[in-house]
Amino acid sequence: MKPPLSLLNPSMLSGSGSLMWFRKGLRVHDNPALEYASRGSTCVYPLFVIDPHYMELDPNAYSPGSTRAGINRIRFLLESLADLDSSLKKLGSRLLVLKGEPSEVLIRCLNEWDVRKLCFEYDTDPYYQALDDKAKNYASAAGIEVFSPVSHTIFDPADIIEKNGGRPPLSYQSFLKLAGEPSFSLSVELSWMPPVGDVGRCEILQVPTLKELGYVEKHQDEFTPFRGGESEALRRLRESLSDKEWVANFEKPKGDPSAYIKPATTVLSPYLKFGCLSSRYFYQCLKDVYKNVKRHTSPPVSLVGQLLWREFFYTVAFGTPNFDEMKGNKICKQIPWNDDDKLLAAWREARTGYPWIDAIMVQLRKWGWMHHLARHSVACFLTRGDLFVHWEKGRDIFERLLIDSDWAINNGNWLWLSCSSFFYQYNRIYSPISFGRKYDPNGNYIRHFLPILKDMPKEYIYEPWTAPLSVQTKAKCIIGRDYPKPVVLHDTASNECRKKMGQAYALNQRLNGRVSEEDLRKLRRKFDEDEDKQEPKPRRQRQKLIK
Ligand code: FAD
Repeated sequence: MKPPLSLLNPSMLSGSGSLMWFRKGLRVHDNPALEYASRGSTCVYPLFVIDPHYMELDPNAYSPGSTRAGINRIRFLLESLADLDSSLKKLGSRLLVLKGEPSEVLIRCLNEWDVRKLCFEYDTDPYYQALDDKAKNYASAAGIEVFSPVSHTIFDPADIIEKNGGRPPLSYQSFLKLAGEPSFSLSVELSWMPPVGDVGRCEILQVPTLKELGYVEKHQDEFTPFRGGESEALRRLRESLSDKEWVANFEKPKGDPSAYIKPATTVLSPYLKFGCLSSRYFYQCLKDVYKNVKRHTSPPVSLVGQLLWREFFYTVAFGTPNFDEMKGNKICKQIPWNDDDKLLAAWREARTGYPWIDAIMVQLRKWGWMHHLARHSVACFLTRGDLFVHWEKGRDIFERLLIDSDWAINNGNWLWLSCSSFFYQYNRIYSPISFGRKYDPNGNYIRHFLPILKDMPKEYIYEPWTAPLSVQTKAKCIIGRDYPKPVVLHDTASNECRKKMGQAYALNQRLNGRVSEEDLRKLRRKFDEDEDKQEPKPRRQRQKLIK
């Protein structure tokens, strides 16, 4: 547990400088680390380190961006930094941007600058856990006080795990029971900040533009419509909250995944991801709305319930070794997924031949954001629904391209959708045809993101391969030439997937989860043999269709 502010010795706080290390938490509202850094300090160094590992252009990546992040998320981050810099300037400070390996840069700054306090938001992601250990060890050895409060989440995942006897709760309901009502107080709004201290020989940069980082904007045909930054986050929040009825009646499963002009949910996830918006402030605002309405929905479907899903996944992810892998992950079913890179590429590049799936994948590439149920559709399709490709591969593509890409939430949801953990009803498969049609019979969403199908009559828009050639000709879209044929036949493929999942689950049950590599190899061989026995042979048929 971190010491409450009141317990700290005031003599430690005066006459010295602080370094506020921004990573996520790119905001000035409800930022306890920033508040503490500012309190009683003669100067504050607000630092952000551009990590080339994350930001450097990868010319060989399958879409514009770095190896780890698509161009949309990099742009969103740069916009968030520029907004933070402008807010800090209003308080009499500014953002100090440096470039390099973060722990090396930080240690150099701690060495060269007048720093008695190092403040940064606690982070549960494995990448930051390792980085923060280095920073803390160095600071402690150098006699620098470290303050690292939990403020990215509403609850402290470590507290919940401790309450549960050292194990994370594995269901949402048990999480809610353990968590109870949160007890936090938002940090004080800053009206000014101590000045920036002497930076010595350090070469401080301005927040770079995409171009300065080496990106050529014309390589991306369309950018996300969502702008980064705390100001935009708070504006969006106000806009969502202004419709009290909407907030009070929000029921996630009833939202329309095909709504893109005005999405059915808040689209606050990228702002929560980078901490442009405090989840605690969001939570408090929702509770304030609830106080002023007669009735409101409840978790898991309400808006507060959505924030609690976030807390749930953060807690399980923090307490589960190898959460982001199948191997060595105790809560993950061991399943012999296939490594079919052709199918994976068809999915990634929106060439599955299923317009509903392909339109969602285009939205991912162009916007970096899709509705939750749209994410359900494509994740189910790639894994246990149709293609039987490993969930880790889909996870990687989401992780790179989403603007709200979040380690705990992304992995948690891929585990869920692939029926590897949390949710086990593998017989319930989303249809890539009828699911979207239910919400959007005319196919407007498809027409927007896949303009090649814009003139396809609505009868065929979800299954254009069934349209007579005369209709395809009239719609200027010949299937197999202008738009692909389906990579698999959904009815056959989904039945195959159900059978495979049944056998994999039986194996996990028989071996009590202790499934070896050899057990998986044997089962994969059996899958192949079963497929080869069938007429018509789906494996070969699939290869033919994909060409
Ligand atoms: P709203 O419905 O307005 O909800 C408000 C906030 O609650 C969200 O911003 C988010 O922080 C949280 N939330 C909502 N749904 C979930 C959920 N199922 N799990 C955890 N938190 C939730 N969300 C991410 O933020 N980052 C990811 O990398 C991510 N990857 C996903 C991968 C898959 C395969 C799936 C099925 C879902 C994923 N989600 C992820 C969860 C969810 O789809 C998004 O959080 C949501 O669509 C964001 O839109 P919103 O802000 O309008 O959500």
